[in-house]
Amino acid sequence: MPQGVTASSQVLPKRGRKKADPQEVLRLLRSQQGELEWARRYEPVDELMITILSQHTSDLNAERAYKALKAEFHSWDTAADADTVTIERAIRTAGLSKQKAPRIREVLRTIRERRGVLDLEFLKDLSLSEAKKWLQSLNGVGPKTAAVVLCFSFGLPAMAVDTHVYRVSRRLGLIGPKVNVGQAHILLEEMVPPEKVYPFHVYLIMHGRRICKAQRPLCESCVLNQICPSSLADAAATTQPKRDGKLTGQETAHGSRLHRD
Ligand code: SF4
Repeated sequence: MPQGVTASSQVLPKRGRKKADPQEVLRLLRSQQGELEWARRYEPVDELMITILSQHTSDLNAERAYKALKAEFHSWDTAADADTVTIERAIRTAGLSKQKAPRIREVLRTIRERRGVLDLEFLKDLSLSEAKKWLQSLNGVGPKTAAVVLCFSFGLPAMAVDTHVYRVSRRLGLIGPKVNVGQAHILLEEMVPPEKVYPFHVYLIMHGRRICKAQRPLCESCVLNQICPSSLADAAATTQPKRDGKLTGQETAHGSRLHRD
């Protein structure tokens, strides 16, 4: 079970209900979140570093640690030659710095040893599966980290499955309850047209953060509740007393909270 998926977050499809159509999921989330255009976020080595730093911590902490790392070492070569204590000190805001510092140094050194230079631009000339394989051969780089680098730095159709993508996909019935996170990368990537992999990934993350939350999914406010086999919206409607259709004060506050998230 990936980090963040707990027993209390196991809202799963009800028996007999149809799984959601991935195209319909995309259409509805696009209508809510808007069109997304891909643009390179970081250079590939930088993307790899920030993704390693983000393991088991928030994006904000990872970003801070990444900036501190860049400020401490003016090039990735300098970081590769540094002692791990200095790296560890620089990245301490990311958490688990004792484990991440040697991993970062080893990854940088391995890239340089194999390529002669600390650069990953060559990955764009490989096939998607070769590029994934190359990245995953680095110690500490799994399918999610590899997919983030390939998708965000190169715009390749690699599906990164984080805790939000995994949870929302399971609830929508896109993947079965026994599918593990490693298998989910392959299944979800096959399910979505290549040009839709990037928006699908981003839409599901945003939806998981704002609406389909781990502990209490906000099914009544969810744009997918008519096609989601796990929706709790209809159950709530049958257990609540009938009203005249107007929003209560509580519901209004609930709605505005969503907009602030
Ligand atoms: S209806 Fe929406 S919020 Fe509720 S489980 Fe389904 S996707 Fe998640």
